[in-house]
Amino acid sequence: MKYAVLNGSKFEYPIGKILCIGRNYVDHIKELGNETPTAPVIFIKPSSSVIEDNQQIVIPGYSDDCHHEVELALLIGRQAKAVSPLEAMDCIAGFGVAIDLTLRDVQSEQKKKGLPWEIAKGFDTACPLSVFVSADRVSNPQNLKIRLMINGTERQNGSTSLMIHSIVEMVSYMSGIFTLEAGDVILTGTPAGVGEIKSGDDLVAEIEQVGRLHVTVA
Ligand code: MG
Repeated sequence: MKYAVLNGSKFEYPIGKILCIGRNYVDHIKELGNETPTAPVIFIKPSSSVIEDNQQIVIPGYSDDCHHEVELALLIGRQAKAVSPLEAMDCIAGFGVAIDLTLRDVQSEQKKKGLPWEIAKGFDTACPLSVFVSADRVSNPQNLKIRLMINGTERQNGSTSLMIHSIVEMVSYMSGIFTLEAGDVILTGTPAGVGEIKSGDDLVAEIEQVGRLHVTVA
């Protein structure tokens, strides 16, 4: 079982489902040439895809194009079913840094065929995840600098203020479809600058006030 760690090691939550939103930053939608969706695009990664700080990404042999997507992660702290946006912030126990690894070639093939994305998004090591900082220590999660470096070169640099669906709207919307439970994690989408990672790469993802995540590629 994988655990989400909140505030060092004081609290641990067994990780439940990992709900992800796609196409949540306008600049990222443009770079992939996608249409802006009217309803949020939601998919799920299994908890088995999580790796921790300083662990290694293993790109599956069926892909030649694994992309990094740095994302703000939310840790759900209590059960939430059909909560309103006003109630949503109280359901969030902490904030973390995640990388939504995506096999872009496989995902494009699946999209073309109208097939689900799990093999492109849910493979082992597809979800590097930092420890979480307690929600009360983040002054405004909707206005944080978010960036990703590869081998010391900056590749993504954005702000959570550029999300299309805000954090509370997202939690509210998702909780109307899936009951959220303590230990569930939500990935909130990626800003522009996604690109390929290769064997030997060193990735550092950072979100202001939230933390830092370091992983390498096997
Ligand atoms: Mg993503």
